[in-house]
Parts: sequence; structure tokens; C-alpha cells
Amino acid sequence: MKTDAVFLKLLKERWPELTATRSLEKCWQILSMDERYLLLSLCARSGKASHVDFVEKHMGFYQDWKQNDLLFDLASSGSLAAVNVLYRQWYALDPDQQGSILLQLVRTETSAAFAIVRSHKNDVDRRYQKKIEKSVWFRSQEIFSILQLLKKRWPNPGAMEIGNPYQNLVGVLLSARTRDEQVLKLMPGFFKAFPTPQKLAKATTKQIEQKINTIGMFRQKAKNLKSMAVDVVEKFDAEIPDTMEELVSLAGVGRKTASVVLVASFDTPAIAVDTHVHRVTNRLGWVKTKTPEKTEEALLKIVPDKMKKTVNQVFVKHGRYICISKPRCWACPVREQCAFKQKNLAIPKNAEEMLTDIKRRELELEQLREQAV
Ligand code: SF4
Repeated sequence: MKTDAVFLKLLKERWPELTATRSLEKCWQILSMDERYLLLSLCARSGKASHVDFVEKHMGFYQDWKQNDLLFDLASSGSLAAVNVLYRQWYALDPDQQGSILLQLVRTETSAAFAIVRSHKNDVDRRYQKKIEKSVWFRSQEIFSILQLLKKRWPNPGAMEIGNPYQNLVGVLLSARTRDEQVLKLMPGFFKAFPTPQKLAKATTKQIEQKINTIGMFRQKAKNLKSMAVDVVEKFDAEIPDTMEELVSLAGVGRKTASVVLVASFDTPAIAVDTHVHRVTNRLGWVKTKTPEKTEEALLKIVPDKMKKTVNQVFVKHGRYICISKPRCWACPVREQCAFKQKNLAIPKNAEEMLTDIKRRELELEQLREQAV
């Protein structure tokens, strides 16, 4: 087992007589017990796999409290090798030591540290848990990992991510309080009649109504679409604008609609919060808010920019199929990380049927989305 350059430098500072070629085991033979302990401590803090093996092999020579200090040193490296030793030693530690080791791991901000902190966070005293949960790094890692898991479960784009900015905007405006399937079905006919904002601006409200009269509130929606198109033509030279301020200046466009368009059409980090996003993120414990507006405000602060676009995409589907009013936590891929106290974990008799039906609906929706324009 050869030592690496950094480690050797440290060793040489302590023991100038050591040569660069001397192995750890050879060092071990010539050192006193106290020096050996220092060697183990240095190895533990380096986190390198071979050094960590060496620590694990020799730490048993020391009293419990010294062994605990070595585990603490291992935690300070945050390396995968060190974390694996901590997993193995975990139940030999008392709860207080477990708590301080987790806090030490949080400080390292490594992905190996996140895995063990997340899996053992609930073993430790509440005061440690609070400190861990308050850590900005831990929260953003937790959010990132939940979104990753949900993205695997719901990989398709949002239902109204259908084409160019104009088409996306029309889709979102039509989908207010209406099933996505109904909106997607009328899209091909709508865009054939009104392929551009100019055509839509020139149409009469009656003509627009005729194309959307299969969905709820079609009269109001026809009026809004016409006003929006007139605004786009007059204020923005017939181009859908690409900023939140400009989008919400269009008739009938609110922050939620604008956010969907920003994400779908302009690759801009934004979070569209509807009732599903509001409910699921509150249940997960990410936010404690009473209204979707407040949820949006809170989420914008805590979700890392690169994951903002994923929030609406996955939570709308998760809220529609799994995290419904009586949640299907038994089928939820993030139930371990969810803070909701009244989880419904009882698997119903028709579970398989339910899951097949969800799959079928999701497939149908995706086919309609692909054929919409
Ligand atoms: S565990 Fe239950 S409450 Fe939590 S997100 Fe999943 S379905 Fe919703």
C-alpha cells in the first residue's frame, strides 16, 4: 500500500525520517502507539480508499472513544470509502455520536455524504435533525434527488408543451379548468384555422368559439385568445415575448401561464404552480403555504435553477395520478422522503388495475400531445 503525494507530505512533516517509498504498514511497524494513532487520523481524514481500509483494519487497537474520533475523522472526508465504513459501524455508535457524525458529513457536501445523511437522518435526535434539515446544501440535494426520482417516473414533457411559443401559449390558455385531453383533441383543427397570432387576431370571437366549443368556458376563452393575439401583434410585432413581465402584460395571461411558456418555449427557469404543484410540495414538506402564489414564491427560493423546469412537469402528473386527495403513497417513488404524516400505504386489492390505468392514460395523453400540432 503506497501513500499518495499529499499524504506523504503530511507524514513527512510529522516524521521527517520517513522516505517516500515507505508503505503505511511499514510505517506502522516503527511508530509508537500515539504516533500510530496520528497516522490513522491522517489516513481517515484523507478519505482515500486504501487509507480508509488501513484505518478500518487498525482502529480496533484503540479504546472506544478514540475509535469514535477516528470515525469522526472519516466523516470529515465525506468520501465514498469513508461513508461505507460509517455504514458498517453505524449501530455501534451511540445516538449522540451518530448525530455529530451526520452533521460533520453535511459539512463535506459530497454525494456520498448525502446518501448516508438521508438514510440515517431519522435515527438521530430531533435537534440534530433540525440542523440537518436547515442546511441549504441538504435541502437542495433532497429536492434534487426527489425531482430526479419523479422525472424517472414521469419522463414525458408537460401536456401543453406542444410546439412553438404561440402554440404553447394557446394550449395553456385553453387548458384552464379543462382536461388536457379535451384541449389536445381540438388543437389540430384550431391551429389549421389560426396558425399564427396574426390570423387569430383577425378572426372574430364567433369564429374562435366555433373551434373551441367542445371545452368549458369556451366563450370567455375565445375572448381572451383574441385579446391576447391582438396584444401580441400590436405590442410585440406578432412574436410571443420571452420575459415574465412582457408575457403577463398580455390579456388573460397570468404568472402560471407565463411560467409554463417560459419553461416550454424559452428554456427559462420558472415554476408554474397549479393546485397539484401546491398540494404535493406542501405534503412533501418543501413549503408550508396556503396559496399557489405563496408556493411559487417559496419554491423559486429553494429549488436549484437547473431543476426549476422539472417542477411543473413532474408534480402536475404526480398530483393527478398518485398524490391525489387520498394519496396513493403505496405507489409513490418518493414516499421515504415525504413529510406527509397521513400517508396511505395500504396497497388496495385493485392496485395493479389502477397502475395499468394510469399508464394507459399517460400514454394516451402523450399520443394526443404529439399529434396536437
Ligand atoms: S408519499 Fe404520499 S403524500 Fe407524499 S408525495 Fe407521495 S403520494 Fe404524496
